[in-house]
Amino acid sequence: MSLDPLLFGEIDPPQRLLMGPGPVNAHPRVLRAMSADLLGQFDPEMTGYMNQVVALYRPIFGTANRWTMLIDGTARAAIEAALVSLVAPGETVLVVNFGRFGLLLTEILGRIGARIESIEAPWGETVPLDAIAAAIARTAPKVVATIHGDTSTTMAQPLDGLGDLCHAAGALLYVDATATLGGMEIAADRWGADIVTGGLQKCLGGPSGSAPITISDAAAEHIFTRRHTEAGIRTGRTVDGNGPRIGSNYFDLAMIMDYWSEKRLNHHTEATSMLYAARECARVALGEGLEARYARHAAAGRAVTAGLRAMGLTVFGDDRFRMTNVTGVYIPEGVDGERVRAAMRDHFEIEIGTAFGPLAGRIWRIGAMGYNAMKHKVLITLGALEACLRAEGFSLPPGEAVSAALEAWEA
Ligand SMILES: *Cc1c(COP(=O)(O)O)cnc(C)c1O
Repeated sequence: MSLDPLLFGEIDPPQRLLMGPGPVNAHPRVLRAMSADLLGQFDPEMTGYMNQVVALYRPIFGTANRWTMLIDGTARAAIEAALVSLVAPGETVLVVNFGRFGLLLTEILGRIGARIESIEAPWGETVPLDAIAAAIARTAPKVVATIHGDTSTTMAQPLDGLGDLCHAAGALLYVDATATLGGMEIAADRWGADIVTGGLQKCLGGPSGSAPITISDAAAEHIFTRRHTEAGIRTGRTVDGNGPRIGSNYFDLAMIMDYWSEKRLNHHTEATSMLYAARECARVALGEGLEARYARHAAAGRAVTAGLRAMGLTVFGDDRFRMTNVTGVYIPEGVDGERVRAAMRDHFEIEIGTAFGPLAGRIWRIGAMGYNAMKHKVLITLGALEACLRAEGFSLPPGEAVSAALEAWEA
């Protein structure tokens, strides 16, 4: 039996408004860029675009790092590339763990065979800098790995001063900024972060599938040196039977840096359409202005929080460390959280997020990121949530959420 090719229609998804913790709707300019024609990977136009991407992502990461580029894959690809390239089996890594993505770092490091130490905060809090300092002194790590904004808990870890602490102890600092890149300030150089990674599908307003990364000279040197000494070869390129010890070919940052350098040594085939997308995401962000963009995300965060509180709901987590672009809120007693999410989708075409682990079934997560961190989208979402909650029999003061959100947006 052959499959009727017309059985499945052309892709024509419903126009959902994605107001969860990511992915979010892509900016139309990004979608248009992705439909542009393809180029050969060493075509001068293509390598020219690659160089532009390097230049465009430096300000977005808050860095002057030479090594700033894309990893092909979702955000997790860059996380894995950073960790597998920095950390050799048996080396000690200190993980700053305050949510699900801290656990992901631990999981990846476990596969690498690292000695994992961690310093933890309960979900909804962050780890104080002096506690991290004490943990560094106690564990003498080669690498300290942390999340900036952990969407699972909606908390943003303060990072000023952490790089100095790490470097004074001879450690490199890795930061996963996937959820905040392009929405909250990322200051790779001021933080002293040696590798920072991101993704497009949160505050940069693109599709998932390309992961920007920036690498300090110190981290790059560590990675290149590691390849030479561990493989016992000077060129580093050819696998001579011993092979580089970096336990991944696809995610070997030394090889990917060679590909993004003037040497253009062939590694993978750069994902052309995703590079167009990443380039356009950056152009949109820099065109708006990073300060204006951070302010827009902050206004959206204030509005969501104020609107939820005006409905009589309880917002999750510590106000002082709240991410601006995603907000957790307790599902009220007697309300079926999944029924409300289904009603939001069925009646209003709006998606809000569930939660993981200890927060599963206890909170919803409402995001306003990138192209969706807009006043009307926040107000529509709050109005819809109010209607769905009322339909579930939850009594709340009608109309107050939208007014409170509007006021908080302008504040
Ligand atoms: C969303 C998110 C990721 C996602 O990784 P993907 O591979 O793109 O799904 C990673 N880290 C953090 C902190 C995130 O919020």
